[in-house]
Amino acid sequence: MEHNKGDSMRLVMKYGGPLMDGPEQIDNSATLVAERSKKDDEIVVVVSAMSDVTDELLTMGESARLGDMERVRANLSKMEKKHLEAAQKLCDEKTLGETAVKIKKLMETLDQCLTGIFLLRELTPRSKDLLLSFGERLATPLMRGALLRKGIKAVDLTGGEVGIITDSTYGNAKPLLNITEVMVKDRLLPILKGGVVPVVTGFIGQDENGVITTLGRGGSDYTATILASALEADEVWIWKDVDGIMTADPKMVASAKTISILSYAEVMEMAYFGAKVLHPLTVTPVQERRIPIRIRSAYNPSNPGTIIKEKGNEDKTVKAVTAIEDLSIITTGGAGMIGIPSVVARVFSTLAANNINVQMISQSSSQANISMLVRKTDLERALKALKVEFRNGDLVRDIHTIPKVAVVAIVGEGMRGTKGIAAKMFSAVAEAGGNVLTIAQGSSELNISFAILEEDVKKVVEAIHKAFGLDKA
Ligand code: ASP
Ligand code: MG
Repeated sequence: MEHNKGDSMRLVMKYGGPLMDGPEQIDNSATLVAERSKKDDEIVVVVSAMSDVTDELLTMGESARLGDMERVRANLSKMEKKHLEAAQKLCDEKTLGETAVKIKKLMETLDQCLTGIFLLRELTPRSKDLLLSFGERLATPLMRGALLRKGIKAVDLTGGEVGIITDSTYGNAKPLLNITEVMVKDRLLPILKGGVVPVVTGFIGQDENGVITTLGRGGSDYTATILASALEADEVWIWKDVDGIMTADPKMVASAKTISILSYAEVMEMAYFGAKVLHPLTVTPVQERRIPIRIRSAYNPSNPGTIIKEKGNEDKTVKAVTAIEDLSIITTGGAGMIGIPSVVARVFSTLAANNINVQMISQSSSQANISMLVRKTDLERALKALKVEFRNGDLVRDIHTIPKVAVVAIVGEGMRGTKGIAAKMFSAVAEAGGNVLTIAQGSSELNISFAILEEDVKKVVEAIHKAFGLDKA
């Protein structure tokens, strides 16, 4: 590590939308930065857009594309007002002027961007990324203003400006980690050495042609770990408005507890299986350098929260129960499918060609059936596509569906090689009166997942949570 100041640390701190939602929240977030910064720690701050702003931008883009500029204009002035009012409360006299100018300029450019979409009646993935970038770009000057007022030197920068270079997969861009590392070091180390806190937009980067890209919804977490890895930071702190990652969604299970320690692999699995904890790729940049991630509450900072590192708690087998709702099952069957491998390939390429994501698959060993889980919102399109592909009905005779299902998964590294986990889980499901529709286990044995009717999800998740003693911390 290049930083060598006794026991001071280099930290990347990330604040999501709820912690940037208004002047009080931003002020609280800035206080947490200031406390560490005054201790001689080097801090990089990553912020999300104020809550809901990203969704509002999406709605505006849609309205513009459909020609409803009146609605766009109304929303633009609301958005401008919200940010200017926050600036007024957060900035001291000296910085308010420049911050307000910056916000107004961004709003003007956003207006032009939406006018362009309106004129063309077209919202491409590339223009959508530009559009969505305004949320974070409007948020960084507010955090900077709040920090300056607390006597902390700070600059606001975009992901592109600090050197996050990505491929050009708009909407879901992947960082080019090598070039990013070189650029981020070049740009951020001098700032850190100068005792200044860089406040960086989460979620956005730029491709090699300088075009703005986004890292996928919720991508600010990912920004934080990309920067941490590039800077060889000591830790990443992801501040939240809850105490940490929980054993289940507390809205579903009242006795859910905070998990104190998880492995990188477990967190990735949880994110993938629907726990709304972190962007699913968050751990990937820091895994190799073994940089720990802490999830902590911005309103209860003395709570240690959840720490994510190489190894989780090895005394526990199952760490969490997750659920993904709003799914549907499609089952294709027909004697013609037996022993014809190309049929399976055709089913999947048809769905892929229609941009339909398959969440889970199971095939019975007679090979006469394949069941796939897709999002409920994709069901109609998926069915249509499959019926067109297999139009003469010879290979795939029946295609039937169960429209409202949920996937429940248990996650934990200790499940690997432990017998009786599945038995315990399925007894709990049966006792709760749930009916298992399909089952899948990854060969990593990090999870077992199964589908049930959506109406049973709460009681099933509660029963499993209890069966594995997750309610007893
Ligand atoms: N603002 C973006 C979103 O809402 C990114 C983030 O919050 O992490 O998806
Ligand atoms: Mg957000």
